[in-house]
Amino acid sequence: MDNFPWDVDDLRTAPVGLGSSFGWESRKTLSPSQLSKGFSCMRSWALPYLLGLRSPWVQGAPVGLATHWLLEQYIKTGSVKAFTLPLPKGRRYAGLGDGDEQLARDAARAIMPHIPVPSDSLSPEHKLTLDTTRWMRDTKIEWEPNCSMDLAAPEETVPTVFDYKTTGGNPKRKDRWCYVPTPDELVQDAQFNIYCASLWQQLNDINGYDGPIRGSWIYVSKLRPVVARTISAMWTPSNVWFMGWLGLARDMVAMKNQEANDVDFRKIKLPVVPEDAGYRDIPCNSYGGCVYHSRKGGPCGGVREATT
Ligand code: SF4
Repeated sequence: MDNFPWDVDDLRTAPVGLGSSFGWESRKTLSPSQLSKGFSCMRSWALPYLLGLRSPWVQGAPVGLATHWLLEQYIKTGSVKAFTLPLPKGRRYAGLGDGDEQLARDAARAIMPHIPVPSDSLSPEHKLTLDTTRWMRDTKIEWEPNCSMDLAAPEETVPTVFDYKTTGGNPKRKDRWCYVPTPDELVQDAQFNIYCASLWQQLNDINGYDGPIRGSWIYVSKLRPVVARTISAMWTPSNVWFMGWLGLARDMVAMKNQEANDVDFRKIKLPVVPEDAGYRDIPCNSYGGCVYHSRKGGPCGGVREATT
C-alpha cells in the first residue's frame, strides 16, 4: 500500500485543487454520493472533494461496473444473449480478478427478473438533471456530469428509478442482507432522494406529472449462489429528507466556493468529533472502512475513543 504522499500538517493550509498532481481537479460539482459522504463525515468528504486529495490507493469497483454494462446491453438489445457478450477492452475492467467476470455475469442475470421487460420506454443510464432553484431560489447546484440513474422507467404506472447495488453481506454469519437498508432507511438516502426528485421534475416539466416516484434499489449478494432482492419506497417532493439533503448540498457548495485560504481543514466539523479535538487523535468510530485513515495509508488519525 502506498503511503500518503504529504505530511499531514501540510494539509492544514493546502490549497484547493492540490490533488491535481494526481491528474484530478477539485470541482464545484456535487453528486449524491458526495452528499452521503459529507453527512457521515465531513472530513472524508473534504479530503477528496474540497482539498482535491484523491487517494491514489482507492480502486474502482470493476465487478459493479461490469454488471451495469451487461444490464445496459440487455435493456438495449432485449436479449439475454447480452449476458454472454465480451466486456469492452480497456482500463475500466482491467481490475477484474479471477472469477470476477463470472460474478458480474451471474449478478446481471440475478437482477434481470427485478427490472421491467426491455422496451423503448426504458432509459438505462438515465442522466441526473435536477434544477434545485425550484426548491431553493438562491441555490443552483451543478451535478457531476457523469451522474446517472442505472435505469429509469418513466412509463410505469408509478414512474420508477432503479439502482443496482452489490452487497458483500457477512460471510461468517452467513447473513447476505445485513447491510441492506429497510424501506424506511431507503427513504432517508441521498441518492434515493436526488434521483427520484430528478425523474419527478423531468416528468413534471414534460406533462405536469405530480404523483409519487418509486425508488427500487436492487441488491445482489456476492455470496454464492448469487441472488438479488429489491427494496422499494415511494418518494414525493414533501419527503423531509429531500429538503435536508438540498440544505446540505447548499452548504457544501458554499464551502467549495470559499477562497482556498479561508478553508481551515481542522475546523471542518465532524459529526462525532468535538470542535476543539486535536487533529491527529480525533475520535471516530467509523474508520473501519475509511480509506483516509492512517491505517489504510491516509492522513486522518481518527481513534476509537475520545482522548481530549
Ligand atoms: S477516519 Fe474517521 S474521522 Fe477520519 S476521515 Fe475517515 S471517517 Fe472521517
